[in-house]
Amino acid sequence: MADTATTTALLDLRGVRKSFRTPDGHERTVLEGVDFRLEEGDIVALLGKSGSGKSTLLRIMAGLIKSNGGDVMYRGIPMTGPAKGISMVFQSFALFPWLTVQENVELGLEAAGVGKDEREERAGAAIDLIGLGGYESAYPKELSGGMRQRVGFARALVMRPDVLLLDEPFSALDVLTSETLREDLLDLWDERKIPTKGILLVSHNIEEAVSMADRVLVFSSDPGRVRAEIRVGLPRPRDTESAAFRQIVD
Ligand code: ADP
Ligand code: MG
Repeated sequence: MADTATTTALLDLRGVRKSFRTPDGHERTVLEGVDFRLEEGDIVALLGKSGSGKSTLLRIMAGLIKSNGGDVMYRGIPMTGPAKGISMVFQSFALFPWLTVQENVELGLEAAGVGKDEREERAGAAIDLIGLGGYESAYPKELSGGMRQRVGFARALVMRPDVLLLDEPFSALDVLTSETLREDLLDLWDERKIPTKGILLVSHNIEEAVSMADRVLVFSSDPGRVRAEIRVGLPRPRDTESAAFRQIVD
């Protein structure tokens, strides 16, 4: 675990508040003073009931929505919108049904202004990495749920994210499919085949949270606030010298 007093966290949230206006004109507080740090090397799970504000908090960290108060910093810099370096995977996959696997994965690169040749190469590599090689020209409806979510992961990983935000990405999958995908992701992390430095998994499933994370934070509902922290074993070992990792960072 990094020394929190001297290092800059990947993500550092202090006193983050968020409220929404209800249709009858009232303010409903969803997050009230959330403090949270994601350090380099961390896989943290945030466990909370449905409706406790987990997705809202992740959207704030992804820069998709703004908080009503408090500070959100990415590598010590206040966030003002979506940050290059932070990618999110969604529970509902959020794929474009009219695009092929390859096109879905290339989309973010295209938006980032990456040229055609590099897009093709990087998307192909991400698709291979997540175990979908051979399905480049398939459409989402031709794939199983587990394969669709693999496309979701490829689309996030192709951006070479520093931080991965996972919003219940396994909860729409059956137990075995979920377990296989989690293991594959952890293998990529442990073997440093992805350049990602920190993962935040949001979940309402304690088994899933404990199986992936070094730290499990319990998020209480009404209003959302981190109530307790459970430390699970030792941080996962990472092979920083593997050839695959060197290939990515060099
Ligand atoms: P979780 O992901 O933990 O299930 P959410 O963050 O999705 O929780 O939602 C927390 C609460 O905030 C819910 O009551 C939800 O209805 C409300 N909420 C979320 N987004 C909005 C929005 N854009 N407008 C109004 N209310 C919202
Ligand atoms: Mg949610």
